[in-house]
Amino acid sequence: MQVLVLGAGQLARMMSLAGAPLGLTVRAYDVRTHTVVHPLTLENYQQDLATGLNSCDVVTAEFEHIPQDILEVCQASGKFLPGAEAIRIGGDRRLEKQLLDNAGVPNATYHVVNTETDLEDAIDKIGLPLVLKSALEGYDGKGQWRLKTAQEMPQVWQEIEAFLAESRDEQSIVAEAWIPFDREVSVIGARGKDGAIKVYPLTQNHHESGILSLSVALTDAEALQKQAVEAFEKLSNKLNYVGVLAIEFFDVKGKLLVNEIAPRVHNSGHWTQQGADVCQFENHLRAVTGLPIGDTSLVEATAMVNVIGTDNIPVQIHAIEGVHLHWYEKEKRSGRKMGHINVAGKDKQQLKQRVDTLLKLLAKEDFPGLHQASAEML
Ligand code: ATP
Ligand code: MG
Ligand code: MG
Repeated sequence: MQVLVLGAGQLARMMSLAGAPLGLTVRAYDVRTHTVVHPLTLENYQQDLATGLNSCDVVTAEFEHIPQDILEVCQASGKFLPGAEAIRIGGDRRLEKQLLDNAGVPNATYHVVNTETDLEDAIDKIGLPLVLKSALEGYDGKGQWRLKTAQEMPQVWQEIEAFLAESRDEQSIVAEAWIPFDREVSVIGARGKDGAIKVYPLTQNHHESGILSLSVALTDAEALQKQAVEAFEKLSNKLNYVGVLAIEFFDVKGKLLVNEIAPRVHNSGHWTQQGADVCQFENHLRAVTGLPIGDTSLVEATAMVNVIGTDNIPVQIHAIEGVHLHWYEKEKRSGRKMGHINVAGKDKQQLKQRVDTLLKLLAKEDFPGLHQASAEML
């Protein structure tokens, strides 16, 4: 079977690697160059979207910020999973918030802002501080503002007004209550064509400058896991979703509030390549090709370290047991996700030892905040 992935980044690459043993061929459609490429070599097949769609059995996506016309063509092919609606909702915070409310899943109070009056209304309705997020195209914390005090309002509005003036006219800002969370967690799960659902253990996540830096699979979070599974079931059933879906949460005193969803495989699920029997990439492919979803339970205590903006990883890390490096073979750029390192151990103590050994080998300046985050999380 042949699967076409919208987007030609590392997620398509890792789907391709996971699909090969199953006899699934993955190709990637680069939405910027409008051509079909090999997900590992990026070799160009000189095919446009119509040709790519004709020759594949299933089309899916590795990201949610996909132009409407492309979504429509894919939907019309009858081969698109999880489908245009799920991708559109995941890429538009206004639709995402409506979905969360309609599905009865707790999330941060919000107000859609298009004008200065809307922003004043948001302050009246929600109070300060506020987090202001662009409805479209935000990722890695980009397109966000914080409004802490009423005094900052003119300055922040000026920036937002300029941002809105430059954007396409369907753009808005979603103002959200600032949530004083204890920690951030996420859940990854898969829903099959038959509606069967399997959910991985929750992952605790640490972000550095808005970008995911460290993820640790949680082994002792039964009450939270129950809430996460409930949210996953409500949202994926509501969407009649097929594939892997990620949900980011704030943990506020043991209560989970959804931050956002991602209708795809997710960076905070990379640890499943090592810590679960069937990883998120294989499970996404299994779901969209109609195979049964594989076991999502934890087989080892696992963590993942993102390699961001550097290719300086000493080869000695390979001597540490339970450590596996995954490069994306991308050109080095500041703030860019270049790869990740999975670390596993038979229990949390062994995992911690191995992560500590790893951190001693990594250049501190390339991994700011990581020592502290790992001390807190492990
Ligand atoms: P991603 O790369 O995960 O898609 P994004 O750009 O869509 O990121 P969010 O996940 O919405 O952005 O926010 C980025 C980070 O900002 C969150 O992980 C969290 O640390 C912080 N944050 C977002 N919303 C809030 C909020 N309402 N209250 C407190 N902190 C928040
Ligand atoms: Mg996001
Ligand atoms: Mg996020």
